[in-house]
Amino acid sequence: MNKIVLGILIVFGLGLLMLGGLFLSTGYLNDIVMGALMLLAGFGILFYVYRLEKIEAAKPTLVSQTFNVKMDGSGKFEDKEMKCRSCGAPITDKDLKVIQGGIMATCPYCGAVFAMQEAPKW
Ligand SMILES: [Zn+2]
Repeated sequence: MNKIVLGILIVFGLGLLMLGGLFLSTGYLNDIVMGALMLLAGFGILFYVYRLEKIEAAKPTLVSQTFNVKMDGSGKFEDKEMKCRSCGAPITDKDLKVIQGGIMATCPYCGAVFAMQEAPKW
């Protein structure tokens, strides 16, 4: 979610709360109904923004956890399976090149180039 959009939503929500308060303070029945609706809408928007912010705040932790798991996996299976050392994507034989007797692999997903130390088992 864009920070600017969030800012606008917060200002909009606060504005609705203030307007709702003004409408309530007039004492007329129609205005009180309108004011109550505005307060509800204002609270709704602010709650929505609050929840979005919580989700946004939780995201980096999730991403880094997934990243760590992937790194561990590629370390463990390095000798058994052909996997990219940067992102863990599977490497197929068409991604391999033989250069001066060494085998170089190019990841089709992230473009990382690295040398395969073991000869392929097929
Ligand atoms: Zn990769």
